[in-house]
Amino acid sequence: MFKKILIANRGEIACRVMRTAHRMGVATVAVYSDADAKSLHVEMADEAIRIGPAPVSESYLKADRIIEAAKSTGADAIHPGFGFLSENPDFVEAVEAAGLTFIGPSASAIRAMGLKDAAKKLMEKAGVPVVPGYHGEEQDPDFLAKQADEIGYPVLIKARAGGGGKGMRRVDDPAEFAASLISASREAEASFGDGACLIEKYILSPRHIEIQVFGDDHGNAVHLFERDCSLQRRHQKVIEEAPAPDMTDEVREAMGEAAVKAAKAISYSGAGTIEFIVDGANGLRTNGFWFMEMNTRLQVEHPVTEEITGVDLVEWQLRVAAGAPLPTKQEDLSINGWAFEARIYAEDAANNFLPATGRLSHLRFPDNARIETGVRAGDEITPFYDPMIAKLIVHADTRAEALRRLHAALVATQAAGSVTSLEFLARLASHEGFAAGDVDTGLIERDIEALTKESSAPKIAVALAAVVSLGLAEPLSAEMQPFDRRDGFRLWGPGEATARLIVGGEEQSLLVGISSDGYRVTVDGEQVSISLRHLGDCIEITHSGGVSTAYFAKDTRSVTIYIDGTHEFAMVDPLAAAGGSDGGGDDVRAPMPGLVKAVTANVGDEVEEGAALAMMEAMKMEHTLKAPRAGIVAAVNAVAGDQVDEGAVLIALEPVDG
Ligand code: ADP
Ligand code: ADP
Ligand code: MG
Repeated sequence: MFKKILIANRGEIACRVMRTAHRMGVATVAVYSDADAKSLHVEMADEAIRIGPAPVSESYLKADRIIEAAKSTGADAIHPGFGFLSENPDFVEAVEAAGLTFIGPSASAIRAMGLKDAAKKLMEKAGVPVVPGYHGEEQDPDFLAKQADEIGYPVLIKARAGGGGKGMRRVDDPAEFAASLISASREAEASFGDGACLIEKYILSPRHIEIQVFGDDHGNAVHLFERDCSLQRRHQKVIEEAPAPDMTDEVREAMGEAAVKAAKAISYSGAGTIEFIVDGANGLRTNGFWFMEMNTRLQVEHPVTEEITGVDLVEWQLRVAAGAPLPTKQEDLSINGWAFEARIYAEDAANNFLPATGRLSHLRFPDNARIETGVRAGDEITPFYDPMIAKLIVHADTRAEALRRLHAALVATQAAGSVTSLEFLARLASHEGFAAGDVDTGLIERDIEALTKESSAPKIAVALAAVVSLGLAEPLSAEMQPFDRRDGFRLWGPGEATARLIVGGEEQSLLVGISSDGYRVTVDGEQVSISLRHLGDCIEITHSGGVSTAYFAKDTRSVTIYIDGTHEFAMVDPLAAAGGSDGGGDDVRAPMPGLVKAVTANVGDEVEEGAALAMMEAMKMEHTLKAPRAGIVAAVNAVAGDQVDEGAVLIALEPVDG
């Protein structure tokens, strides 16, 4: 076994790998960018080496610096995690040329699966079913359009170098084919430096079911059953589970066999995943699944497999990379119970899943779930990397029980300081169709409105928010009794104050009265009486309905109350409210820090409301910035290539007749 390994990654996966390494007595080296100097993965590692500034191209993608860090610290091997350099065959070769071990497959296996078109040809040859379509070299648009006609609509255009759902366009109507091809190809060129596309039959009622495989250097390969990753947004996984709902032994065996065949066809060593697209229209069938791609690395959702098999996949990775044979035979692997994983992101589900940034002023996870995270309370979600906050994993004997636990754990998770997907995930976990196992990749989009509609906060949460916003709920020092505090308050107040909060999308003035045993808050014309007692970091609230436990977090802009879920209330700044009325409708501002990719507006242009004026890239995504109203472009303050801050005015408009 290795004595010391370097983890060429950051965030939760770096922490995840280190945990197993430490358990196995293997020392760890972290690498970090300037943005991550104080991050959890650096703290967890035995040693840490700075590799460059925040942008990934100057740090986590700098192969030579990472290899240098491994050599200078005396590491024997490099674990790539996922993303970054994990599927880069040139990196594997450079690691090996430096006399180090790459914890993962060979460069040739990665190359064989690197491009979706070549991988499909290879799989066809190996006898693995592939999605019907065209995956040849010819890229002439008319030729591809003809192929699409032959395949039959709807079709899916896919970048052969694609990943993370990028460079993909569904086309239902032949008239839209040409335009979709151009946009898919342009996105692929920009993201992967390779605009070539393949055309696939679009599978209706699609389910994404993938098989975890594992190979070693002694010719063995096994599979560790399936994961269902059908709950997706923008072709990206949101909640994953294992096993798959309605899976039969027969289909499982057929898919497992096909996956092992695929792995053996490229002499695969290490952890890998074969992704299949499955026709879920009429139940699962042995002839209803097709190879989509292979991910030649550990997968984000690997914990659900670990939960149902009892295998530590990272431990297997280390053992196999060190030359040992697979520790378990196929017939000794079995499924125990059911597991779910939810990916908690800093993103705004209601706003087309727009990624967010921010300092996590408050972060608290429940005890009864497995949490994989790379951040702590006080850490910042920066625009430089994936905005994942944590993965929450639960396991139980049955699917229904595991789903119930998933929901409870999501409701009990607390975060403040950034928009998160927690509430959306909790609703998804209690979605009827999902509970019935009726999953397909379109579920989220179909029900997006119900999954993201704003819920009304309970009155007790509003009352507590009012008290908190006035600074009346801060923990008291040991000697100070609540009574003194209220007395103190009276010194500068009449025993009454007004809190101004946004409640249910509306600005409200909430009258807070201080009584001898607590507070009386007028919410929607009704008096809610509460009294508070601090218990460690939570508050016990006594109210007419009984006693509840709550947590709260407060920053300069908002108050967040955790009581039966998360309820956030923006505080109204009296100065801002008095100031303006139009809310900056004349300006196009950067919604987040990021890179300006293109500016199409010119000073003097007359533009319609909704016209695309510029494009930004942040958090691996492109964002089109549109005109908030019709007008004339009065100023353009950015050019392509500019790095801009959140809120920066990029373009200013003026009225057409002004
Ligand atoms: P999956 O199908 O498992 O979601 P993806 O290929 O979409 O796989 O990406 C896997 C993970 O790798 C992502 O969730 C993300 O955390 C990470 N990742 C991928 N690309 C990048 C990148 N350019 N920068 C940072 N992280 C990345
Ligand atoms: P990526 O490399 O971006 O992960 P994939 O080829 O794995 O690309 O596809 C991502 C997702 O797109 C799948 O999980 C599925 O939801 C959808 N998808 C891919 N191929 C098809 C298809 N032929 N028909 C329907 N949906 C598909
Ligand atoms: Mg994929």
